[in-house]
Amino acid sequence: METTRFDWDAIITTLESWRKDLREERALSGNEPEPSVTTVAEQYKRDPWAVLVSTIVSLRTKDEVTLAVSKGLLEKASTPAELRALQEGEIARLIYPAGFYRTKASNLKKIAAVLTGQYAGRVPADMDALLALPGVGRKTANLVLTEAFDIDGICVDTHVHRISNRTGWVSSVNPEQTEQTLRKILPQKYWKGINSLLVLYGQQVCRPISPFCSKCVMPGRCKRRGVERSR
Ligand code: SF4
Repeated sequence: METTRFDWDAIITTLESWRKDLREERALSGNEPEPSVTTVAEQYKRDPWAVLVSTIVSLRTKDEVTLAVSKGLLEKASTPAELRALQEGEIARLIYPAGFYRTKASNLKKIAAVLTGQYAGRVPADMDALLALPGVGRKTANLVLTEAFDIDGICVDTHVHRISNRTGWVSSVNPEQTEQTLRKILPQKYWKGINSLLVLYGQQVCRPISPFCSKCVMPGRCKRRGVERSR
């Protein structure tokens, strides 16, 4: 495996130290510094159903909305069987204003039917089985495997994809390619943690439009590929 081109120990240590400082700062102000799915995973003791629900709700949805509506839905439906018993309209109402709430309600209802029908009401700890569920792509499947089952995986969302390309770690056209390259170059011990680290970094510093390069903790390690405007 090619892991020597980048000093991953230094990169990850730097980012973790930045996150620790941010957490201490945010703890003082009372704001929530964690990505919503990570927060749900921690608050629901890694319950795979809670993680799956919040991951699906989180797609194209703000963190604060994901957290609030996931908790609201899980109060009504703490298991796939309970969600299956709900009307699709009620699920949609519970997860509103999450993005694409009607489509997500439909997928959640179908997923609950598959889980109760084929998996005895459990979420499978298997990539292929997860990918076969309605509305579940690699990003969702990887996040469920890492956050709920503690299985090594790399969840590549828009933040991980963007930062990996800007820094020059990868040169890829889509998240799937980014995941495949990171699986080759990133030491496996960092796979599970890279998502929550880069989601937070992407929200706070390496923003999609005009990143805060002046505040970046790894400027000397970044090629700033594709960055035309920064702050
Ligand atoms: S230097 Fe700028 S583009 Fe590179 S990681 Fe930092 S914020 Fe992102």
